[in-house]
Amino acid sequence: MASQFQHFDVVIIGGGPSGATAADDLVKQGKKVLLVDKQTRIKPCGGAIPVCVLKEFDLPESILVAKISSARMVAPSNKTVVMPVTGGFVGMVDRESFDEWLRERAASHGATRLRAEFIGVKRSETGQLRIHVQEMDAPAYQAETVISCDLLIGADGANSKVAELCIPQRRARKYVYAYHEIVELPKEQSKSFDGAQCDVWYQSDLSPDFYGWVFPHGTTASIGVGTGHKGFSIRAATKLLRERCGLSDAKMIRREGAPIPLRPLDRWDNGKDVVLAGDAAGVVAPASGEGIYYAMLGGRLAADAGLAFLRSGQARELKTARRRFMSAHGRVFWVLNILQYFWYCSDKRREGFVKMCRDPDVQRLTWEGYLHKKLVRGNPMAHLRVFYKDTMQLLGLATHT
Ligand SMILES: Cc1cc2nc3c(=O)[nH]c(=O)nc-3n(C[C@H](O)[C@H](O)[C@H](O)COP(=O)(O)OP(=O)(O)OC[C@H]3O[C@@H](n4cnc5c(N)ncnc54)[C@H](O)[C@@H]3O)c2cc1C
Repeated sequence: MASQFQHFDVVIIGGGPSGATAADDLVKQGKKVLLVDKQTRIKPCGGAIPVCVLKEFDLPESILVAKISSARMVAPSNKTVVMPVTGGFVGMVDRESFDEWLRERAASHGATRLRAEFIGVKRSETGQLRIHVQEMDAPAYQAETVISCDLLIGADGANSKVAELCIPQRRARKYVYAYHEIVELPKEQSKSFDGAQCDVWYQSDLSPDFYGWVFPHGTTASIGVGTGHKGFSIRAATKLLRERCGLSDAKMIRREGAPIPLRPLDRWDNGKDVVLAGDAAGVVAPASGEGIYYAMLGGRLAADAGLAFLRSGQARELKTARRRFMSAHGRVFWVLNILQYFWYCSDKRREGFVKMCRDPDVQRLTWEGYLHKKLVRGNPMAHLRVFYKDTMQLLGLATHT
């Protein structure tokens, strides 16, 4: 029997990097796709992406607002280590235009966009998905819109309602709360500010368990901190960071915060017809808080899994999204989790961590891993040396200079 509701092969909730990537991939495979986003605010984000994102997701360089050629690590003692970026660059994006560009690309290939808030899911008598949304531009008296679909992708971010309603979890989510201020950079060049360099601050009064950052975005900068400690004032810490980097008087354009999920959920699908991607699935890298690349990859893997499911009708295909992600990046997430746990827990350890960043092997492996998302296989001795030095630092056996 024909449905009274408009039908799509796939409805995607969330038009951030994960949802927009999934929409683009699916529509290019001939699927009828609805991309739903409430678009009530700009996603709070430092905007740093590794160079490999451009190639892997076919993005033009013009999407970047700045190219970063070095990172300066600041220790609790204020000693600094500058790590020149080798083998590429770190790109900076402005999330307002970046997300919109991704959504529009999907639309230009045939996806339908809808500015609406996802409210919930019901099922028809035959078990088909009925997605309930409230259209943002509709008059207040208008009732919810109902859409029918064969597959639902939840790409609705760290507080995913799709995950909450459709995919019960065994463990609670693990978050870092992050806050930043976007400020206008002074016109005259400041000695304390380099527009091609990221600053990463490891000091306990800025963050007791994560870090603070200053990321240049061309004419503006993102200045912020993250922490998992609920009682810690991230606003006061950001004020302090602005003082330390000489940008206290810079004009504030906006300020905003959001949780960053730091643990992949145990389940990404409901065993039937719903799958998660990106922050909704909990995939932001521990220690760095990097989520854009992993969100886009998650969107792509959800799209691949969804296509296989739509073709075969086999719900087990949806499991491949998580399986493929964890097999490519699970080990890196595990290592970064340990790194965060050991090195970010006291100023003494943070001092050791920044000192370790002076090591050319550490720098090379860091940039190769971050920029290209590949483990460095060519030089096992470098891994061994880094592992040895890490262990000595951890045990307090390394000599401090
Ligand atoms: C302060 C901060 C700084 C960060 N800095 C960086 C960085 O420098 N580099 C980096 O790689 N990562 C960074 N991250 C992480 C990164 O922003 C996220 O990992 C990434 O945005 C995840 O993409 P996503 O598409 O999964 O989710 P999101 O980008 O959160 O997109 C989710 C979308 O869903 C929509 N949505 C939510 N609920 C509903 C609903 N009920 N109905 C309809 N639509 C809905 C939202 O409007 C949003 O557009 C940072 C995060 C924070 C909070």
